[in-house]
Amino acid sequence: MNADMHCHSYYSDGLLSPTDVMRRAHAHGVELITLTDHDETAGVSEARDVATELGMQFVNGVEISVTWGNEQTIHIVGLGIDVYNKALSDGLEAVRGGREARAMQIGDQLAREGIDGAYEGAMRHARNPALVSRSHFARYLVERGMAKDVKAVFSQWLGTGKPGYVSHQWATLEQAVTWITGAGGMAVVAHPGRYWLEHKEMEAFLAEFKSYGGRGIEVLSSSHKPDKVEIFADYARRFDLLASRASDFHAPGESWTDLGKLPDLPRDLKPVWSELI
Ligand code: AMP
Ligand code: MN
Ligand code: MN
Ligand code: MN
Repeated sequence: MNADMHCHSYYSDGLLSPTDVMRRAHAHGVELITLTDHDETAGVSEARDVATELGMQFVNGVEISVTWGNEQTIHIVGLGIDVYNKALSDGLEAVRGGREARAMQIGDQLAREGIDGAYEGAMRHARNPALVSRSHFARYLVERGMAKDVKAVFSQWLGTGKPGYVSHQWATLEQAVTWITGAGGMAVVAHPGRYWLEHKEMEAFLAEFKSYGGRGIEVLSSSHKPDKVEIFADYARRFDLLASRASDFHAPGESWTDLGKLPDLPRDLKPVWSELI
């Protein structure tokens, strides 16, 4: 099954419309797809219509920003959610609400580094102004020639501790998992290779995630290379988690992989979609 359970449209920090994301997935042979915009479900119904028309199976999705423990930002994907669930949509609205003030602060900090107009520049890239994100700043800074690509902008300017970094309180882990499960969905740990968690912290995190009802982990992700897959497969086995396959596609050429192009899951793991379709 060519399943891709994590990608973005221009309703968050992706570059393409939900329609174009679905067309691209279909052209890559994807059979089961979800759209998981950050803290936002506005693109889901368009994506569902197009995916269905193209003959793909579709699962509703979202990716919720969470602050865990010592200022760690963690992302939790919700699969199979009812996007009309009130607690979920109110929760997402509250999470989105913090973004504009944060973006202004990022703009101020970059101005202090001699980069003016970054807030306005990022807003020009943000098709959904409620969802202005560091990706939009990154694209603006590339346009200004401040770094060679988006990845380089994060390591020079926007990553944790860099001059444009602003710490922020997102949802709690308990809120995110509860909103997702309360809306009939399955909570999945996004891109586990991206976090600065030692082995013991990762175990504490996964135990807490499970205690709230979390079910899955992205064993395949664009955030770690194939040689790291066994590490996360092992967490899935030891914590009895369902395994996801997740390109985290944002835009053509912004990552080493693309929609539907990741390898297969290790055969002994149970895929998240076994309980979704
Ligand atoms: P925000 O939610 O505003 O903090 O933006 C986070 C987004 O920035 C993520 O969802 C990624 O799309 C992007 N991002 C974070 N770190 C990196 C990185 N090192 N390289 C490229 N994109 C990144
Ligand atoms: Mn993103
Ligand atoms: Mn993410
Ligand atoms: Mn993502």
